Amino acid sequence: MAYDDQNIFAKIIRGEIPCNKVTETAHSLAFHDINPQTPTHILVVPKGPYEDLDAFSANATEPEIVDYIRTLGDVARQAGVVADGYRTLTNNGQDAHQEVPHLHFHIFAGKNLGRMIKPLDK
Ligand code: AMP
Repeated sequence: MAYDDQNIFAKIIRGEIPCNKVTETAHSLAFHDINPQTPTHILVVPKGPYEDLDAFSANATEPEIVDYIRTLGDVARQAGVVADGYRTLTNNGQDAHQEVPHLHFHIFAGKNLGRMIKPLDK
């Protein structure tokens, strides 16, 4: 799949539309989800043109990967959610219902998050 540079997160990274920013580094940006599913719901994106984890893990540079993973942890610490716990999640592709075709990890926290995934229908 070719990267679509008109996706909403690409526009946020370029500053063409606003976001509620949490933090920014050389290669990553974190901002609050516009439709939070939990009391804390933050999205962390790499600034580079990677549509999903598959593209990022295959093509990102080591500085980008290091920055991104460190930023994920830093954001959780800065949000004060480490002690009670949090969940990171990234949807990759169609079966995972990925809506925005730019890699993003969700950070969910602030309540008991329940079990990891809905059981398969029997
Ligand atoms: P996913 O289904 O994993 O692709 O999640 C996309 C997420 O992006 C959803 O949780 C949306 O609420 C969120 N979202 C969409 N547009 C924006 C926006 N402009 N600012 C912040 N979050 C957004």
